[in-house]
This record gives sequence, structure tokens and C-alpha cells, in this order.
Amino acid sequence: MNATFQEIGDVFARHESFVLISHVRPDADAIGSQISLGLALEAAGKKVRLINEDGLPDNLAFLDGADRIELPPAEPLEVEVAIALDTATKPRLGDAALNAASAAKLWVNIDHHKSNPGYGDVNHIDSGSPATGQILYKLITTLGLPMPDATRDAIYVAVSTDTGSFQYPSTTEETYLMAADLIRRGLNVGEINSLTYDSHPLRRIELTRALLNTLEITGEGRVAHWELTMATRQALGVKAEDSEGLIDMIRGIQGVIVAVFFEELPDGKIRVSMRSKDPRVDACNVCAEFGGGGHALAAGIRMAGPLADAKQQVLAAISRALPAN
Ligand code: AMP
Ligand code: MN
Ligand code: MN
Repeated sequence: MNATFQEIGDVFARHESFVLISHVRPDADAIGSQISLGLALEAAGKKVRLINEDGLPDNLAFLDGADRIELPPAEPLEVEVAIALDTATKPRLGDAALNAASAAKLWVNIDHHKSNPGYGDVNHIDSGSPATGQILYKLITTLGLPMPDATRDAIYVAVSTDTGSFQYPSTTEETYLMAADLIRRGLNVGEINSLTYDSHPLRRIELTRALLNTLEITGEGRVAHWELTMATRQALGVKAEDSEGLIDMIRGIQGVIVAVFFEELPDGKIRVSMRSKDPRVDACNVCAEFGGGGHALAAGIRMAGPLADAKQQVLAAISRALPAN
């Protein structure tokens, strides 16, 4: 059962110290959610720590408040409440981050993944929201919490990136009204978009070139997939955030319904990133067959390797999910 914003507000009012956590390999909705709610709570007089298993990706260092994102400390933090943001399952918070939050006596879970089972004591899962950042905007404005500039900017970047720049079908009227209100509150839209989208390291473009060399189109033109091997990762010095959003390039191919990115991870596991352009193919359901999850049109898996086996199994599952021609 979803808690109301008022019930979440009561949790804020009754406690003084909070640790905010988001998923491993954080994207801008994960980090932006931590910064936006964290600094709003701090402005309201609360003690706040922002922890991520993998720390702050370089591409988000421009955000005000990014320096507040910490790697998990070795010892559990003395905090009353842990708040999980943008994280579909508790294990996706990471072992070290879970240990850091293990002394919290109350867990709040705020997310927009439809596969989220509601693992908190207090849960607010809104799968109709395109980003966790948009849920937090509603929460902060409904409760009348302060909205420092860092909160305003982090909400914008969280929502902009999770909607593919306000393009995906998950984008709603509320999303645009929210963006308008953030601009009214002083957000510099040109500057923040430039910092988000026009400031990539050359390495990311070299990665794109390498990925394009592996591109394959199957399923009678309806499935596009590419892959990143450990060898290429090492040769280019690829960082986790370098591939963020690149899948949109193959998702954008005319006739393609499903785009998939296979990536060998240093621990031997395979990361699968999946996008669907057709509501008849639910990427979350396909990924759930392998223990993954996410949204209907954007989902992922972390599964056992080797790469060739993972590819074969996932592509077979996609082909079963494709509508009859
Ligand atoms: P990505 O392809 O990494 O951008 O992920 C697409 C969406 O699926 C995001 O909302 C992720 O949070 C979610 N997701 C990715 N991997 C997993 C997983 N292993 N389990 C659950 N959700 C996931
Ligand atoms: Mn995310
Ligand atoms: Mn998200």
C-alpha cells in the first residue's frame, strides 16, 4: 500500500537524522533524487547523509550538492531513517550501502519502477511518474518543504534524463508544468542542459564508435543489439557513466522495436540494458525472466555470463515476446 505524502511528511517531522541511498551504477535520477530531497530536508533543519555504493559519476559533478554524495563508510551510520530512492529492489542499493544504513530503524522507499515490490516500512511507488525526481518535486511542494537552488536543479536533471529530454511516452502534462515551475523558480535551462548533454568526454564518442562496430539487427529488422566486451572497456578506459543514454541511438532506428545493450562487467556478470518502442513488448517482463526489472519500455538485468550465453538467452526471450508479424 502506498503511503500518502502526508504520511511521509510525518516521518520527516518525527525524526532528525536520515541517510538517503540510490541504486548501484547511479544515473542522474538516482543522484539527482538524493541531492534534491537531501538538501530540502537539510534546509528544513534535518541531519542528512547521501550515500551511494559506487559514489558520484564524473558526468554529474556539475550539480550543486554533488560533493555531498559519499561512498559508504565501513561502519553503520547512526541514523534513524533510511530513504531508498529510484531503486527497484533492496539488493540494488549495494552491500556496502546497505551495511552503512543498517542501523536505521525505519525504511522509506520512494520509486517509480513498476517492478518495485515495496521493500520499505513506508513505501511510495508511482509507476505513472517518469522519474523519481518528479515524485520528489510533488512531495516537496505538497509538504511545503524548502526548495534550495540545488534541489531545483537536481530535480530538473533527474527528470530530463529519465524522460530522454522530455520525449518518452512517460512524459506527462505534469512533467512540463513542473519544468515550467522550476524555470519560474530561477533554473537556467540553457546552462543546465548544456552541462547535462553537451559536455561529454571524447572517450564516450570513442566508445560509441566501438559499439557501432558490434551492431547487429535481427528479428526481421525489429531487434537491434550491440555489446561492450572487457577488452574494449580496458582499451578505451571506459567508465560506467560513459554509456549512459547511448542505447537511444539504436532504439531510434526505423523499424526497431527492441534495443539491447550487452556489457561484460569486471565481476564476470553481464549487464543488459533493454528498451522497447512498442507497448506490446514489455521490457520489464522480459527482464524479469532473468531476475531483472524496471519499466515497461526501459528495463535491465544483471545476469551470469559468459556474454555469448547471456546474449543467446535474452535474444531468444525477446523473440518470444515480439508480436506476430
Ligand atoms: P538502464 O538500462 O541501466 O538505464 O536501466 C533501465 C531501467 O531499468 C532503469 O530504470 C533501471 O533502474 C532499471 N533496471 C536496470 N537494471 C535493473 C535490474 N537488474 N533490476 C531492476 N531494475 C533494473
Ligand atoms: Mn535510475
Ligand atoms: Mn528513475
